[in-house]
Amino acid sequence: MIRVRFAPSPTGPLHMGGLRTALYNYLLAKQCGGKFILRIEDTDQSRTVEYAENYIIESLKWLKIIPDEGFEASERDQYKQSKRREIYKEYAYQLIEKGFAYYAFDTPEELNEIRQRVQQPGKNWQYDSISRQYMKNSLTLPEDETKRLIEQGTPYVIRIKTERNQEVKINDLIRGPVIFNTNVLDDKILLKSDGMPTYHLANVVDDHLMNISHVIRGEEWLPSTPIHVLLYEYLGIKHKMPEFAHLPLLLRPDGNGKLSKRDGEKYGFPVFPLSIPSDNGTIVPGYRELGFLPEAFINVLALLGWNPGTEKEIYTMEELINDFSIEKVSKSGAKFNYQKCLWINHEHLKKSETNYIKEYIISTYKDISFDDIILTKVIETDKKRVNLLTEILDDYRRAIDFNYVKNNISKNSSEINVKILSNFYEFIHTKINDINGELDIEKVIKLYIKDNKIKFQEIGIPLRIATFGIKTGPSISEIYYILGKTEFFNRVKTITD
Ligand code: GLU
Repeated sequence: MIRVRFAPSPTGPLHMGGLRTALYNYLLAKQCGGKFILRIEDTDQSRTVEYAENYIIESLKWLKIIPDEGFEASERDQYKQSKRREIYKEYAYQLIEKGFAYYAFDTPEELNEIRQRVQQPGKNWQYDSISRQYMKNSLTLPEDETKRLIEQGTPYVIRIKTERNQEVKINDLIRGPVIFNTNVLDDKILLKSDGMPTYHLANVVDDHLMNISHVIRGEEWLPSTPIHVLLYEYLGIKHKMPEFAHLPLLLRPDGNGKLSKRDGEKYGFPVFPLSIPSDNGTIVPGYRELGFLPEAFINVLALLGWNPGTEKEIYTMEELINDFSIEKVSKSGAKFNYQKCLWINHEHLKKSETNYIKEYIISTYKDISFDDIILTKVIETDKKRVNLLTEILDDYRRAIDFNYVKNNISKNSSEINVKILSNFYEFIHTKINDINGELDIEKVIKLYIKDNKIKFQEIGIPLRIATFGIKTGPSISEIYYILGKTEFFNRVKTITD
């Protein structure tokens, strides 16, 4: 049975890379009839941010990537590491008993002092099989001294005892075989002095206890994997070790380095799914607020590193579940391209039902009370053209709020040829016989330009600006359709008065 997990640390708002990890895990679980588990890895309490867990839940809900376990409020604590701390201790002591871990009594000051004294420039000092010989731990102290220190309540941590000159090999599903030499490994802390496990111990113990079959996570965790493999070995559970797949980094648009949480401001596109408060107290919109459909954002995430090798680029969730395969995830970093994200959203909007978009808009932008008929008309005309739902919202506002339109008009005043507009208004009322009936506005304009020997644009642009405030966006006949005849001509009249 395939069991995969998404194991975020709630240290800040979940960003795109994290969500992509969640999605790939979800896709794998769904295509195999497996289970997808959410586990909150909050063992580093000093870095835990209160709102982060809720942000994770909200993001997953928005995208409908719903975990089978660990998601419902009632079962969340069972899958939260800070609530499971007693479980990990047992494993740490088991490792000491087997000789694969040891107590270390060095104080943070002592460690710092050593680091400063021996660290060579450009090299990291590490607590390892060589340096541990000079430190204060149960491998260097006489047994009764260790016992005495523990009985006295001296603070200690438990470290893994790595061996020298060994090879640790993993068969990564994306990268193939990766070999590490244990000489580069630290004797990582497994249990901290406050009794809380570190990431390494809790992660391995939980993957084991939760019967995880595949660990799919970001590339930044690859260097930790040999420690995990050693832990499986030392705990005697290597035969049940999960498969590993390390996903490529998300890169900046220019390919120059990893896309970081700070890059959003720099490049002018969001890096978070949902809005976040910024340092200066304002709210930075996320993909949801900017007007991405959830299925489009899923499509965006799926293509960040997964290359199915076909021309197809627009996928529904069902298609992704069918087509996704971890072997087709690339090893090299995925360059982020915001223009492509916009195009993907555009394609999803284009093929969505008007009603679906309408319901989605109403439930997402809850602070706006919509006029159903106008909103429907705006969506009908806009969905084939715009990239973002916020563009639809803007057109909706133009449709219902003429004051908003008027503000735009003054900005464009040089293009608003009032004389032509009054002329046109006059024309409608004098030359068109059936002004009270249905009007084919395009036909009328054609008559008018023929009569006056002018170009379409000469009346077209002033009309668009007078009624909608912009010369791009919906066409005149679309504006006419959205506003209706009375409102359309009222607006023209107001501008000419
Ligand atoms: N807690 C780690 C993180 O925040 C998870 C790494 C893993 O999936 O093993 O990304």
